[in-house]
Amino acid sequence: MARTTVHEIGHWLGLRHIWGDAICGDDRIADTPPQLDKNFGCPSFPHRPNNTCGSDANGEMYMNYMDYVDDGCMTSFSKGQVKVMQEVMNTERFELSRSDKCDASVGINTPENSKKYFHIINNINEGNYNINLSPEIYNTPMLVYITDIRGKVVYNKNESYSTAINIDISNESEGMYFIHLKHKNFEATSKVMKTN
Ligand SMILES: [Zn+2]
Repeated sequence: MARTTVHEIGHWLGLRHIWGDAICGDDRIADTPPQLDKNFGCPSFPHRPNNTCGSDANGEMYMNYMDYVDDGCMTSFSKGQVKVMQEVMNTERFELSRSDKCDASVGINTPENSKKYFHIINNINEGNYNINLSPEIYNTPMLVYITDIRGKVVYNKNESYSTAINIDISNESEGMYFIHLKHKNFEATSKVMKTN
């Protein structure tokens, strides 16, 4: 189920093993309960309630991706772990979000034959994006919507554009967004970065 990859990416984004790599070790995450040791297989809940390291009646968070249980038994990161990963993503791994390997002028889901219709200028900025249109589609209806990394729609506009589309999402928080263009001649999705 590829949970090994999830676990290793957790390390790559700053997480330690949930048992802290020692008997009653510390993973430096406040909301994961202290754990006696690594777990294997698929324990049943509650596992080691009130353990000697100070867990409560709910016992150990063996279902955490940073334990060693079977793939089908791993289901979650804690909120504290997510916070650490987001911090690392915004610092040590920040260059990844600026990689041009999925450049917006090319798009992440933009069929080759649709690229002639539009061009996104300056896809990394504080939330103002300009998309130049080609004359063939001037003043024809188009749906433009933007989703955040979780798929939530943060911008939605259906109208005819003369020569360019101007989009302002400067009120949204920093991060990666996807601009979707839906026109009778083409459909495309492109990545943009919103900085602070
Ligand atoms: Zn590991």
